[in-house]
Amino acid sequence: MKTTLESEITVRDICEGFVYNELEGKGLFGLSGKLTIQPEYQRNYIYASDGGKKEMAVIESILKGYPIGLIYFNKVDDDNLEVLDGQQRITSLGRFVTDKFAIKDENDMEQYYSGMACDKKNKILGTKLLIYECEGTESEIKEWFKTINIAGVPLNNQELLNAVYSGSFVTLSKEEFSNSQNANIQKWSAYIKGSVNRQEFLGCALKWVSKDNIGDYMSCHRFDRNINELKKYFNSVIDWVSSVFTDVESEMRGIEWGRLYEEYHKKAYNPTKVSAEVQNLYADPYVKNRKGIFEYILGGSVDTKLLQVRVFDEATKKSVYANQTAQAKVKDLSNCPLCSVGENVNKNKIWSFGEMDADHVAAWSKGGATVSKNCQMLCKTHNRAKGNR
Ligand SMILES: [Zn+2]
Repeated sequence: MKTTLESEITVRDICEGFVYNELEGKGLFGLSGKLTIQPEYQRNYIYASDGGKKEMAVIESILKGYPIGLIYFNKVDDDNLEVLDGQQRITSLGRFVTDKFAIKDENDMEQYYSGMACDKKNKILGTKLLIYECEGTESEIKEWFKTINIAGVPLNNQELLNAVYSGSFVTLSKEEFSNSQNANIQKWSAYIKGSVNRQEFLGCALKWVSKDNIGDYMSCHRFDRNINELKKYFNSVIDWVSSVFTDVESEMRGIEWGRLYEEYHKKAYNPTKVSAEVQNLYADPYVKNRKGIFEYILGGSVDTKLLQVRVFDEATKKSVYANQTAQAKVKDLSNCPLCSVGENVNKNKIWSFGEMDADHVAAWSKGGATVSKNCQMLCKTHNRAKGNR
């Protein structure tokens, strides 16, 4: 890969012919159309999302004469460059000189570019940027792009995958799943955690359809002209969840709905009964893991491990053990109530505390509370045999 350092390109040059797409939230072109600011592998514009502090900081740095860091261009051919790194900074510059946002002046007043004094305007436009122009094969550039972390915010996994597998499939997928203007985002965000701009909705859709093999899937579909399969699968999962669980609870966000869909979507559920069960479990103080409620219900309400039902504490177990053992010794029977009945080799065995486990007399799932009245100690064998109720 060949790199050339350019130090004569000014903000004026860069912002010449700057186009900002409000709908997609990104800078498109600069350098009189020669520069593509946001190639397919770039992330969406996120400098404006923290209340604009970062984009204002870019302008303030320039006014104070501070460097804004190295910028990298990829030389596609003699007439075309694309931004490899620095897209956020360039978009901030372009947005500012086209009056898309204001900075605060020394009197804390909002100041737009068009209202600035000439000397300040010239200071901004005349600032020279430090730019590396790189020339190399597509794979060299991508490999290198994958390893640089000079951007203010490191790329996350899906952003890297978008860079590595850039092409028509990524472009179309981003229009659907990384577009904050998409009216479906609000509905989706009831089930999906993360940020649309940071490609986390796209990552989730891809994870579901690929059964967790996102890289392979993106590689196979890289030059596809449609994303029908991805959309169809994603919508099937969302439609399924929202028809089985009619209540929307905050714990639903970020659950592995794709895996649950694969496992359970062929089973029939009664949404009214499901809703009543969800509400019951939400009201149950012994359920520690509310996120597990949904899978628990889907699986037929048997696997209580998913709910992390509160267990008896040590003090309760020790006092129940002491009582049970004292009474058993008087009767010369085993201190495990199940060993003591019927004919078996352990009928008279006194187990040590460590050889026993606590059990709900009335099962938690049948309304039995986790209180000492409902606690009995069983030998480990009997406790296991009684199972996970
Ligand atoms: Zn026993």
